[in-house]
Amino acid sequence: EYISILREPFSLYDTFEDVVNTTRILAIQKNLEFKVNFEGTHPEVKGDAFRLKQILLNLISNAVKYTANGTVTVTGKVDMQQEHHALFTFTVKDTGEGISKEAQANLFERFYQAAPTRTTIKGTGLGLAITKKLVEMHGGSIGFSSEVGQGTEFVCQIPYELATGSSHAVMTPLETEHPLGAFMEG
Ligand code: ATP
Ligand code: MG
Repeated sequence: EYISILREPFSLYDTFEDVVNTTRILAIQKNLEFKVNFEGTHPEVKGDAFRLKQILLNLISNAVKYTANGTVTVTGKVDMQQEHHALFTFTVKDTGEGISKEAQANLFERFYQAAPTRTTIKGTGLGLAITKKLVEMHGGSIGFSSEVGQGTEFVCQIPYELATGSSHAVMTPLETEHPLGAFMEG
């Protein structure tokens, strides 16, 4: 392997928030509604914040790119597990063009782009191949469901070990919708 996954302490919530703040701008520029929700504790974990950002960024930027109108919804959830482990589950859902059954079978292939995209939207077809590889290198899993004309939802789960001394993770209230979302009304 030419890349490796670091095991350094970082905050799952701060990393999630960073990517969400960057991608919200892309969504708003396209006049899409952008909804965000994060549930659970905000632990410090051992892992690779930069790689997690790449995973999130790829999925959210695809959702924005392949959605002409409607909503992109991003959720994050931390489930504390026995013996200082946390399972991070996040979903990226859009109301975009969807993915045909034929394209679904090839979606994670390098350089694969589904039919309309190939000619109309620029890209390389590498985002999902890289994303899947990175998720697997974390010992995690990624899946999706999609309906042509309805939209697509990606679900990703990554297990983390808590960073030492962060067993007293703080509970914070649910973030339902970001204040910037107000710009979208009317
Ligand atoms: P890039 O390398 O810049 O990410 P890309 O977006 O074309 O290029 P992938 O991210 O790997 O490549 O996605 C592969 C193909 O899967 C896309 O070209 C598109 O056809 C389809 N796709 C991915 N995400 C979605 C989505 N949320 N909705 C509809 N189609 C999608
Ligand atoms: Mg992409």
